[in-house]
Amino acid sequence: MAAKIIDGKQIAADMRAELKEEVAKLKEQGIVPGLGVILVGEDPASQSYVRAKERACEELGIYSDDNRLPADTTQQDLIALINRMNTDQKINGILVQLPLPKHLDESEVLLAINPDKDVDGFHPTNIGKMMAGQAAFLPCTPHGIIQLLQRSGVKIEGSHVVIVGRSNIVGKPLANMLIQKNKGGNATVTVCHTRTADLAYQTRQADIIIAAAGRPNTITADMVKDGVVVIDVGVNRIEDKTSKKGYRLIGDVDFEAVKEKASLITPVPGGVGPMTITMLLYNTVESAKKASGKI
Ligand code: NAP
Repeated sequence: MAAKIIDGKQIAADMRAELKEEVAKLKEQGIVPGLGVILVGEDPASQSYVRAKERACEELGIYSDDNRLPADTTQQDLIALINRMNTDQKINGILVQLPLPKHLDESEVLLAINPDKDVDGFHPTNIGKMMAGQAAFLPCTPHGIIQLLQRSGVKIEGSHVVIVGRSNIVGKPLANMLIQKNKGGNATVTVCHTRTADLAYQTRQADIIIAAAGRPNTITADMVKDGVVVIDVGVNRIEDKTSKKGYRLIGDVDFEAVKEKASLITPVPGGVGPMTITMLLYNTVESAKKASGKI
C-alpha cells in the first residue's frame, strides 16, 4: 500500500497561521518580535533562503532588520554588526546566513551572538543546554522534523529512529532531541554516517528513518521495512532539461519506490524545507515573549 504523504507545506502553513495570531496578540500589548538578518556575499542559494525568511517575517508581522554585506566584509565589521544587534531592543533574534565566505571564522561569529537571541540554536550555550535537557532555542531543522512527526500523529516515544547523517545542524542535534526524556523524545536512536559498516542493516531495523546525507538514493526500497515512517531532509540538485531552471530538486530517498513500502513519507520539495523557516520564526516569537517577561 502506498504511503500517506506528510505535507510539510500544509503543516508549516498551519504553524505560521498560529504564529501570526500570536504576533497580532503581542502587538496589542506593544510587543513586536524582531529578527536581524545578516547575509555576507552573493551566494545565490543563500540569497534565496534569506529572501524567503524576510518574506515569511513580513507575512507574520515580524519586524526584520535586513543587512546585506559585501563578500569582502572583515571579521571585525561583521562582529561589530552582531554586537549592535545584541543590544538592539527591537531585535529578538539574530540570523547569520551560513556558509560564510572562507576568510571569515564561522565559529567565532556564532560565538559572538548573544545566546538569548540565538534563534538558529547554534551557539554552544544553547547546544549545551539542549543536551542537558534545559530550556534553549532548538535548532530549526531538527525541531521542524519533530514537529512534522508529532503533527502527523507519529509515535516517537519507544520508536527506533535511524538517522543517516551526523552534521552539527541536522544529525547530531536531532539525535539529542529524540533521546531527551520529554515530549517529542524518548526514542531509541541510531546515528549512521559514511563509516557505518552496514547501512542497510541499520535502516531495516528502523520504525522511523531520517535521511540527512545530502546524496540522492541513499535510501532505497530494499533498505526499509514495511510500514516505516520516512523523513527526507536531503536537498540535491539534479539536471533536468525539461525544467526552466535546467535542474530540479530531489531528496536522499528513492521516493517512488520507498513510498510503496512506507506508511508515511515526506516529499522533496515540500517536506522538511518549509518547516525550517517556520521554526526560526517560532524561536523569534518565543524570544520576544521572553524578553518582554511574558513567559
Ligand atoms: P553534511 O554536513 O554534508 O552531512 C552529511 C552527513 O551524511 C555526514 O555526517 C555524512 O557522513 C553522512 N553521509 C553522507 N553520505 C552518506 C552515505 N552514503 N551513507 C551514510 N552517511 C552518509 O550535510 P547537512 O548539512 O547535514 O545536510 C544534509 C542534507 O540535508 C543536505 O542535502 C542539505 O541540503 C539538507 N538540508 C536541508 C535542510 C532543509 O531545511 N530542508 C536543512 C539542512 C540541511 P560523514 O560524517 O561520515 O561524512
